[in-house]
Amino acid sequence: MEVGITICRCGLKAKAVVSWTDDNPGRRFYGCKNYGKESHCRFFAWYDAPLTPRARVFIFGLSRKVKKMERAKMIERICWLCLLIFSMVIVWVMK
Ligand SMILES: [Zn+2]
Repeated sequence: MEVGITICRCGLKAKAVVSWTDDNPGRRFYGCKNYGKESHCRFFAWYDAPLTPRARVFIFGLSRKVKKMERAKMIERICWLCLLIFSMVIVWVMK
């Protein structure tokens, strides 16, 4: 992502970040490294060109699919954990 060094108004090397907002999913930008701290300069500069409406819809759809798959994976892990605990209880009771 880094072509040249971008410096914020604090005089620090700007932090490269990826936006995941609905309007700019996957679009990269530079921000102040101190953002979120008590003192920062509010520097902001897009690195990528604006997304086309088609690209925005496509990336947003992919992002939703990834989130859905991550939720399903988490539920599967919980089910396996419950099955493991249940099996251990059965083994313990059968002794
Ligand atoms: Zn700054």
